[in-house]
Amino acid sequence: MKIALLYICTGKYTVFWDEFFTSSEQYFIPGAEKEYFVFTDATDLPHNNHPRVHVIEQEWLAWPYATLMRFHIFSRVETQLRAFDYIFFFNANAQFLRTITAEEFLPGPEHEGLTVVSSPGFHGQPVKNFPYEKKDKRSKAYMPPALRKIYVQGGVNGGTAAAFLALIQELKQNVQSDLDRGIIAAWHDESHLNRYIAERHPRVLPPGYIFPEERKDLPFEPVILIRDKNRLGGNAALRQHT
Ligand code: UDP
Repeated sequence: MKIALLYICTGKYTVFWDEFFTSSEQYFIPGAEKEYFVFTDATDLPHNNHPRVHVIEQEWLAWPYATLMRFHIFSRVETQLRAFDYIFFFNANAQFLRTITAEEFLPGPEHEGLTVVSSPGFHGQPVKNFPYEKKDKRSKAYMPPALRKIYVQGGVNGGTAAAFLALIQELKQNVQSDLDRGIIAAWHDESHLNRYIAERHPRVLPPGYIFPEERKDLPFEPVILIRDKNRLGGNAALRQHT
């Protein structure tokens, strides 16, 4: 089984790469043939000579474009990605804490080829609290009330190559259509992802697969830890270029 892992680390986010790669090699679906597509502006990234690490030059983009433009960024390697069975994206500050098996993570036949993760911050809350794009009906991410059911986090998702490449293409077009009309959805790529899955039936993993390090109180088994960015100065500092 061949799995492509998509990983963006521009600017200060390169600090997370070594821990992500090392923990993935140890714990993420051991036995699978994993290749890493690393989009970065760093020239001296650790493991950059590893035969399964493909470093792709990616200029630093100011917030929120660093996250919003991810579908444009992924589509740069679309041709290479077609050779894989599965494709998954992980936020830069993800760290695998224990072995993740194919059985617990990959989508089944009923999941239309997609795996997503329920958002820790909103799991169990009333639907009215979910931060979809609810205001701007012109946005391609606008979520009609009838489709408001679950809220997934944008930081871990993927699926079969066919299903995830279809998602990448459609969401790239949707983000671009919004931008062309001067629109940015409430939570960027995450709003578009939620709109996309609202009319599909992905495998929805519990929030432990995107467990925020700073929320030790959450009642889920931490499986993929999202490292606390406050230790490194917080969001505002990390998203600055220098
Ligand atoms: N990112 C990046 N450089 C930046 C900002 C963001 O590489 O300057 C990438 C990185 O992969 C990160 C993702 O965009 O994990 C999402 O950004 P962030 O973690 O800040 O957003 P959050 O998921 O916390 O909303």
